[in-house]
Amino acid sequence: MSINVGVIGVGAIGQGHIRRLSHVLSGARVGAVTDVDLDRAGEVARDLPGTVLHPTGAALVADPGVDAVVVTSWGPTHEEYVLACIAAGKQVFCEKPLAPTREACERIVEAETAAGRRLVMVGFMRRFDAQYRAMKDVVTGGEIGLPLLMHAAHRNPSVPDFFTSDMIINDSAVHDIDVARWLFDEEIAAVTVLTPRTSRKAKAGFHDPLLVLLETGSGVLVDVEASVNAGFGYDIRGEVVGEDGTVELSESAGVVVKRAGAYSGRVPADWRERFVRAFDAELQAWVDAVAAGGTTGPSAWDGYAATVVCETGLAALRSGAREPVVLRERPDLYEVAP
Ligand code: NAP
Repeated sequence: MSINVGVIGVGAIGQGHIRRLSHVLSGARVGAVTDVDLDRAGEVARDLPGTVLHPTGAALVADPGVDAVVVTSWGPTHEEYVLACIAAGKQVFCEKPLAPTREACERIVEAETAAGRRLVMVGFMRRFDAQYRAMKDVVTGGEIGLPLLMHAAHRNPSVPDFFTSDMIINDSAVHDIDVARWLFDEEIAAVTVLTPRTSRKAKAGFHDPLLVLLETGSGVLVDVEASVNAGFGYDIRGEVVGEDGTVELSESAGVVVKRAGAYSGRVPADWRERFVRAFDAELQAWVDAVAAGGTTGPSAWDGYAATVVCETGLAALRSGAREPVVLRERPDLYEVAP
């Protein structure tokens, strides 16, 4: 039986997830949509036979025909919708960030803990990328010995006008923060942010690129080069250095061409191209888990921890100092390590 999914927010990624649920994945259909821009939501609904248009997110969550909810609206609205889903006892897939502030994430963690079961999955799709999964298998399988360091880079070709300088950390590097927690199965204990010479292409007031240094609880050091003006493509890098060897992400797209004494390959144009299959796998895993009566993947705790590390990173950027990450105690509901 197919689950009826309601989608709140039909912007770029909302429409991508609607396409996935309708045409790529199995076991679900889009039964309802809404958006703060109702005209746009109406246009989307018109292309989906039998899909109900709701005037608000609250109405969509309350619809008894909606089995589970995908939240793809603007970040500051996530808390309201996720809390409504928890109150209604409905499974919710929430795009990152779970919420933009520590306090909002805490309210979600508290509500889910009070409900006594996991109802929230957060959209950190890199955990479903084949290369990152293979890297995690190598790290956790002990093949390269004890991990010591990770070098990562997150190079965006460009970003839209609404992108603020803080978003280099809390919208872009947040993915690398989640990867670090997940790869090494532990929390980030401290953050330092270094500011190299600024690119001439950086917007006024931006420190771009940044070097974000994450220290895990056991002392693994992760350096993340984060930039949003690379120009040449969307370039995602990662290499873990262990006591006995290294494991690194390979070039992600397509084939290598060798001709005329040179070799070349494609750099993905953007995050959609690089992670298209990860998004598919992520949402399919959620659909399958919901059909089985539960959830899977990154939890509300993971969303909370990522937001706190981002806030700490922004504090470190401003202070120029190493800032410790202070997390609340992890409720038993989230006892499985990140
Ligand atoms: P977007 O194109 O601006 O879409 C956001 C949509 O939500 C817009 O249609 C927006 O309408 C709508 N919205 C805003 N407030 C709302 C409300 N109160 N109720 C219902 N809908 C509302 O942004 P996006 O790129 O799709 O991003 C959406 C979310 O996905 C963000 O949290 C973003 O961080 C996340 N995201 C994640 C990834 C990833 O790699 N996992 C990639 C992209 C985006 P208006 O345009 O009229 O404001």
